Order: sequence, then C-alpha cells, then structure tokens
Amino acid sequence: MRLRGLRISVVWFALLVAVVSPAWADNSGTSAVRPVLVIHGGAGVAPGDLTPEEEAQARAALEAALRAGYARLQGGGTALDAVTAAITLLEDAPQFNAGRGAVFTHDGRNELDTSIMDGATGKAGAAAGLHRVKNPILLARAIMEKSPHVMMIGAGAEQFAEAQGIPLVDPAYFRTEKRWQQLQKALQAEARAQASNQPLVLPGKAYFGTVGALALDVQGHLAAGTSTGGMTNKRYGRVGDSPIIGAGTWADTGCAVSGTGWGEYYIRAAAAHEICARVRLAGEPLPKAADAVINQVIPRMGGDGGAIALGADGVFAFPFNTPGMYRGWIGPDGVPHVAIYRDDPLPMPGR
Ligand code: ASP
Repeated sequence: MRLRGLRISVVWFALLVAVVSPAWADNSGTSAVRPVLVIHGGAGVAPGDLTPEEEAQARAALEAALRAGYARLQGGGTALDAVTAAITLLEDAPQFNAGRGAVFTHDGRNELDTSIMDGATGKAGAAAGLHRVKNPILLARAIMEKSPHVMMIGAGAEQFAEAQGIPLVDPAYFRTEKRWQQLQKALQAEARAQASNQPLVLPGKAYFGTVGALALDVQGHLAAGTSTGGMTNKRYGRVGDSPIIGAGTWADTGCAVSGTGWGEYYIRAAAAHEICARVRLAGEPLPKAADAVINQVIPRMGGDGGAIALGADGVFAFPFNTPGMYRGWIGPDGVPHVAIYRDDPLPMPGR
C-alpha cells in the first residue's frame, strides 16, 4: 500500500514539474536551459542588391557567426561569450557594416560604434567614434568589465583599448571598395540636391547594415550586443543608436534586443529598452512588443529598420519593415538557420 501511495505521489510530482517548467527547460528532468543564439546583419539589404556570390558569402558568414557563438553556449559559456564570439566574426566579415566593411563618413573615414549589455547584472559597455579598433565589440566588453565606465569615445576609447591589449589596426583595414562606391553615390545625390536648392540629404536609409547578437545561456541569462559603422555619409561626429544602451542594445533578466535601422529614430524611441519594458512592465508577449515598437512606433515617427528580440523563455522575434534583414538563429539542434529577404523562408522552433 505504502509503495503504491509513493508511486502515485511520484507521478503527481512529475506531472506538476512538467506543467510548471518553463518552456526552455529540457526533457531530461534537469532544469538546464536550452541555449539559443539570434543574430542580425542589418536591415539595409534589398532584393537585387547582391550578386549570387555575395549572397552566398553573406549566408556563409551568418552561419559561421551562429556556429561560433553557439559553440560557446554548448560548452557552458556565458551569453556574453556567445554574443562576443558571434559579433567578432560578423565584424571580420566584409559583407556587413561593422568592423571591416563598415560604411564611410562624409569625410571618407570608417567610424565605428558598439555596445554590449549583460542581462543578468545589468552591466553595460559602449564605445563610439572608433577608427582603429579591429573588433569594437571586444572594446565594449572591456569597458564593461575592466573600467568603472559605461561609454567611451574616440581617441580616449582607443587609448583604453591599447592599454587593455585589444588589437588596433591601420584605419585602411576597414576599407572596402563597395562601401567607398556607396559613399560616392551618396555624395553625388547630396550635390544634386544642393544644386537644385533642395534640403540637405541626410544619411540615406538605404545604407543600414549594423550587426547584432542576442544569447540565452544554460544559466538562463541573456546578453545583447551591437556593432556598426553607422550610416553612409554621416558627419559632424554623428553617433547613432547602436552604441547607446536602451536605444540600439538592451538586455535584462527577461528580454534582450539589438536594433538596426535609422538610428535617430531608435534613439528617440529608446527602441530596445521600450520593447523590453513592454514585456516586463505591461506583460506583452515579446514578439508583440517587438513588432509594435519596430513596425508601428518607429514608422509613425518617420523611421524604419528592424531588430532582433529574445526572451528568457527562448522565444525570439525578427521584426523589420525594410525589404530585407540579414538574420539567423541557432538552437538545440545546432543547425544554423539564416534568411536575408522578406520572403525568405526561416524555420522557427516548434512552429
Ligand atoms: N542603426 C545604425 C545607425 O543608425 C545603422 C544601421 O543599423 O545600420 O548608426
């Protein structure tokens, strides 16, 4: 009798665990979280922009970044490690507007911005106006972990990078011909507008390309990071949303976001924080909150772009309102899934 009673209690207990376990708990009976990594390579890509070869290279780079970041998560690494590893690869890939391959400023320079945030601790690091730091995301992380500050800019930031042993390169390292030609086109369009007495053309929305990554690690911790060259033809030391905590990057205990788009609007909407605040304070489902901010709030203001968002329950979303956004994710099966244009199929977990 006692044994039967015990068996019944065990069955009830097992049922209870199955019901109250969060979606990310695995089936092994442990409470290990299933890690997830989500990335973007910018919302500035449209059908017809890329040759088949360029498209294949971009897809391969996205997959490599997903694999590199996910390897960290599988090895028990932190969400921060995964975000750092994935973004480092995307910065090295010339296909994206971050690190090598960054867009040019009005003055013909590559000027890089970046940020990272640890959802578990709320710590953050950011840097803007960099010309010599090979992998800006490494500097953002060092600022977060090795300094009492959150944000550094320009020469001071590079001095700190040097002191931390973070690799510096000749500014020519970042130059790619494709980005140079984009600047020439933007300058010509600007000159035409001035000649016909039209208002000064601001950095065009056709030149987004920021990279970003979000990770959920086996501890259930989230992290977010973003890295960019900003917008083609930017001037006057313009800084966009990417290095601004709460605008282009946010992570807390329940939600992480990295944005890509017309940075001025993302700053004014505090876009990344706004998405997570809706989840945390208003209890909105993360995909709904992300869609509302990216596809309603920002367009109503006159901006456009996209974002990636990831919850501590492993649910993620890729809202964007441009013709394409380089994007991808990798989860428990270890298979990278990537897409570029709006209609590209992108399998989602359990859907
Ligand atoms: N958000 C970036 C900026 O405004 C641009 C981008 O996403 O490519 O600097």
